[in-house]
Amino acid sequence: MINSPLSNLFLDTISNIEKFEKNIEDFRDLSKKVYDFYLAKKESSRAKQVLITIKYGTAKGLRKSFIDSHKKLVKNAEKIDQSLSDAENIFNNKEKTCYTCHGLGHSYKQEYLREKGSPTRRIRKTIKCEPCKGTGKIKLDIDETEEVLIRNFIDLGNLLNNILKESLNSFDNLIKIL
Ligand SMILES: [Zn+2]
Repeated sequence: MINSPLSNLFLDTISNIEKFEKNIEDFRDLSKKVYDFYLAKKESSRAKQVLITIKYGTAKGLRKSFIDSHKKLVKNAEKIDQSLSDAENIFNNKEKTCYTCHGLGHSYKQEYLREKGSPTRRIRKTIKCEPCKGTGKIKLDIDETEEVLIRNFIDLGNLLNNILKESLNSFDNLIKIL
């Protein structure tokens, strides 16, 4: 296989999943605290409110941590979406965006025109990308085992995405009560 696109994809995804696990744990922990804080406020229990927010200094601190945690999860979701669309693209088209030109099909080179040995002016030359022959895509040779791997990968990605989206849904409601 050319430039082992699958191993890159899998390695990226493993590190994304590790981040995801940590971030989702933090997010759920904070969601619970926000809700507990809401209950304490409803009960008018000053002591409970202080206890819940002590780690964050104030309710404002808790709010900021919760917003930061939400941002991280949104980023996670974007990365997982990107990995998913890469995997689906590999699966459907058996090709990958060229790693040399990043899909452009060409690159640019600055050149100096010379007259009697001294440079007169600079021109930009377009050079066709060799690895992809100017198409921006690299064809992949994917066997059955790899196809199964990609399919499993897509299933896993969809599963994580669903978990993420469900968690993110609660944010809009919770942030309002803080
Ligand atoms: Zn290329």
